[in-house]
Amino acid sequence: MSSVIWYLYEFARKSFFEGVTDAKSKHDIVEKPDRFRDFPEVLKEYCIACGACTQSCPSPHAIKLVRDGDNDDGEGQTYPVINTRACIRCGFCAEVCPTEPKTLLCGENHLIREEFNIIPSKRQYTVDDFLCIKCKKCIKSCPVDGAIIERDNKIAVDQSKCISCGNCLEACPVKGAMKGVFIDNLEDQKAIIRLVVNTLEEFIESKEDELQSLPSEKLLKLQLPLSKIWDKALQILPDEEVALEVIENATDRLKIRIITWDESKCEKCRLCVDECPTGAITYSPDENKVERDSDKCLRCSNCYQTCPFSVVKYFIAKFLLDEVDGEKVILITLKESQLANR
Ligand code: SF4
Ligand code: SF4
Repeated sequence: MSSVIWYLYEFARKSFFEGVTDAKSKHDIVEKPDRFRDFPEVLKEYCIACGACTQSCPSPHAIKLVRDGDNDDGEGQTYPVINTRACIRCGFCAEVCPTEPKTLLCGENHLIREEFNIIPSKRQYTVDDFLCIKCKKCIKSCPVDGAIIERDNKIAVDQSKCISCGNCLEACPVKGAMKGVFIDNLEDQKAIIRLVVNTLEEFIESKEDELQSLPSEKLLKLQLPLSKIWDKALQILPDEEVALEVIENATDRLKIRIITWDESKCEKCRLCVDECPTGAITYSPDENKVERDSDKCLRCSNCYQTCPFSVVKYFIAKFLLDEVDGEKVILITLKESQLANR
């Protein structure tokens, strides 16, 4: 019996010492690792009260904007307060905080990394009311309740709820009705569009002889390799995905109007001079010559519709970005306008 007591005593003693040693080693591993994401820290002095943090928070009652009372120095400071009993430490608030430095500091949220594609903030989804046919397929496809709403017979995306999954864009049956627009670098995107338009205009104008001799019922088909503008586009905006989509959208919707002028047919009747709204067409009595300044030309086509001697031809060019023999090219189709009905 005494050996049983001794055994129990030894067992209790060993457990006790092991507990003590384990407790010491556990103390070592409770040090926060570098990647540990704690509750957000608030640096209230930087807050601009935009409310982005409260909109982004997925946990009800975890974050609230409060405002100090006004005093002699001015309005009271507004700033976020974190309720640590509701905060799930997702880090969304710190991610969206636009101030520099940030008002909310939090460890990195690995779920927000681009490869996880939770919030690819490059795009914002919006409905083009003009094109939308109110089929509501986007609403059915949207995984977030209330992210797409119908109000006053209009479909709209509630940006505060949209998680940028892109489901709506895939579901929409009308090209362009739901748009996934890149919201950053808008000026760069405009510069790329200008580059596309100017390059295409110059290219088409260099084919004036072919246009002049084109029979009025025929199409003129041209190709411009994308490589002619690609490097310049990437210099403006070094993001291949955005640059390509901007070029694709631009060429998809673009129509360029081209006026050609065959001076040899001009009979100096000068009807076009009076019709031109910008003064781009002038008559020089000394040279007995009617001239057109293409820089002033609006391409309104008044001269084309007025000239009785077919000096002016008016073409519409349409574009499509496509692949030919493994190379991306802008396909160009030009057709003479039948506006003048001659
Ligand atoms: S992108 Fe996704 S979350 Fe946003 S509105 Fe479209 S379907 Fe809804
Ligand atoms: S799917 Fe497109 S067309 Fe249909 S309601 Fe939505 S935005 Fe409008």
